[in-house]
Amino acid sequence: MAVLLRKTETKGKTEALEVVESARETVWAAPSFVADLFLGQFRSALLFPYPEQDPEDRCIGDAFCAKVAAFLKANLDADEVDRTGDLPKSVIDGLVQLGCFGMKIPKEYGGLGFSQTNYDRAIALIASHCASTAVWLSAHQSIGVPQPLKLFGTPEQKQKYLPKLAAGAISAFALTEPDVGSDPAKMTTMATPVDNGAAYLLNGEKLWCTNGPVADYLVVVARTPSIVEHGREKKQLTAFIVEKTMPGFEIVRRCDFMGIRGIQNALIRLTNVRVPKENVLWGPGLGLKLALTTLNTGRLTLPASCIGGAKRCLEICRRWANERVQWGQPIGRHEAIGVRLARMAANTFAMEAVTWYACALVDRGGADIRLEAAMAKMFSSEALWELVNDAMQIKGGRGYETAQSLKARGESPDPIERIMRDSRINTIFEGSSEIMRLFIAREALDPHLKVAGELFNPKAPLAVRLQSAWRMLKFYARWYPRQWFYNPRARTPGVPWALRGHLRFVRRASHRLARAIVHAMGRYGPGLERRQMVLWRAVDIGTDLFAMSAAVSRSARMLSRHPGDSTPQMLADHFCREARRRIRANFRQFFSATDRRAVKAASRFLDGDMAWLEEGIVR
Ligand SMILES: Cc1cc2nc3c(=O)[nH]c(=O)nc-3n(C[C@H](O)[C@H](O)[C@H](O)COP(=O)(O)OP(=O)(O)OC[C@H]3O[C@@H](n4cnc5c(N)ncnc54)[C@H](O)[C@@H]3O)c2cc1C
Repeated sequence: MAVLLRKTETKGKTEALEVVESARETVWAAPSFVADLFLGQFRSALLFPYPEQDPEDRCIGDAFCAKVAAFLKANLDADEVDRTGDLPKSVIDGLVQLGCFGMKIPKEYGGLGFSQTNYDRAIALIASHCASTAVWLSAHQSIGVPQPLKLFGTPEQKQKYLPKLAAGAISAFALTEPDVGSDPAKMTTMATPVDNGAAYLLNGEKLWCTNGPVADYLVVVARTPSIVEHGREKKQLTAFIVEKTMPGFEIVRRCDFMGIRGIQNALIRLTNVRVPKENVLWGPGLGLKLALTTLNTGRLTLPASCIGGAKRCLEICRRWANERVQWGQPIGRHEAIGVRLARMAANTFAMEAVTWYACALVDRGGADIRLEAAMAKMFSSEALWELVNDAMQIKGGRGYETAQSLKARGESPDPIERIMRDSRINTIFEGSSEIMRLFIAREALDPHLKVAGELFNPKAPLAVRLQSAWRMLKFYARWYPRQWFYNPRARTPGVPWALRGHLRFVRRASHRLARAIVHAMGRYGPGLERRQMVLWRAVDIGTDLFAMSAAVSRSARMLSRHPGDSTPQMLADHFCREARRRIRANFRQFFSATDRRAVKAASRFLDGDMAWLEEGIVR
């Protein structure tokens, strides 16, 4: 039985890998600062000087954000939305009128045609006031119909849908199913071609579809008939535009959550929903690739909304830590609270540094932002969670009390309790932290797999493996020795003296990281894929190196604009010092034996051998 289970598990894993692998973008057509870091190259020209928003574009963003802020302040009570679970219709109408539902839709289709930076600035602002509202807008245009339509739609599809979406028709994205969370290979929603391929009949259930209950149009990913490639069945996932008025489309129930309670989210059932072939997005079999490519930029909305939440916490904590006096002084002047405040401020600075950099790359073009965007999402969502925890501690009992209760007692209704509930989801949806790490690790290993991958493929013929071994020898004979040397005198122009040491650290550590990755490949071979903690450490080191570089670059840029203000430098310096501690710790335990012990303990735990630990509870 156990053997059978393991075989099924292995088959499921292989299938999952194959499906995701076939949807990967395999080509690196444009440069990436992060991809190079993993190869031991610090390409300063890709990040220095820190890109600034075009002044004209900035003016557009400033004016829009000012209008939205005034509207939100006057019309949207975020705690009321949290309490009732409803975003009032008047607010939605007002947001439509302001153009919020068309921020990412090109002007020719009636949208605002915003740059990525302005769109993210607006989302950060809105999230600082009401995270639920930010999720409404993000589900609509970061992953909903407009973005994939813009990227992959036909002119007819764009003409048909984009003007309606800019005018307030709401959209959603439906990939997840009860058995499909992080593993799209298990998708069971079927799209069966009918009428000689003129249409498809969609059948299945889609879970947790944000905006689902209110959406007019949805991108639905479903399985179309498999094809046979090299004698093997290949699963096909295809994306469709589904309209809510199509017969057979049903909202089964609205789902409720711990936080972001104002979103509309549903379990959806599709029963023989007839979708014309004209509504296929991009092409049959390209559904997952479409979803992943859309998310490359789409997931940049999430770090922006994390920035909004973080800034709100900073504002609350600065006020409170000055005002609240305990043991003879304001609590912010006690060292333990001061350390938390400094970390919160430095992490917010770094979150902005990575996020606005990634946005600038999207606007400027000519760069591959896959890794930068994934890191911005993972880093910011985790940093926000830590930051909210700090904010909760700093506000003490008042952090734990609801805003409504605080208000009723006549105190400032600071919604730390709500922000904590609202922010927890960020490390789970739009690619959980684990899936982000797997994704980043896969892309970081890509150059090595291209050189040596076949050598580790037990199914590859001997001749191919020998060829791969020869290619590998040639590559590593030149590349590997270079990873032991770095130029300590290399300078990045414009970086203040006080931060140069941090960049030297990044240069040196990127070589060490590149070596560690190759050592891991040599040590575990194809088994490296199962050594998640080794991969995690590589990813975490890479992420911290990226965040350090971005923070230094941003502070150098700010210093050049305002030479009298040393605070950005202070924040970058503090962030880098903390990051260096984490990086050193990760290198020290890169191949830690504790991982294997933990896996063994977890295995005994899963087998029920430790069920005695669960005694003494109410079942
Ligand atoms: C509020 C909310 C809104 C959402 N909105 C949408 C939406 O609009 N459209 C949509 O399609 N989906 C949506 N989702 C679904 C969301 O994207 C999924 O929750 C997410 O993909 C994770 O899937 P899961 O919850 O089933 O977790 P699972 O995939 O079951 O994973 C459970 C845990 O295991 C980890 N894990 C899984 N695989 C691995 C692995 N190989 N290695 C290590 N760890 C692993 C995961 O990271 C996670 O921690 C939403 C979910 C929520 C809660």
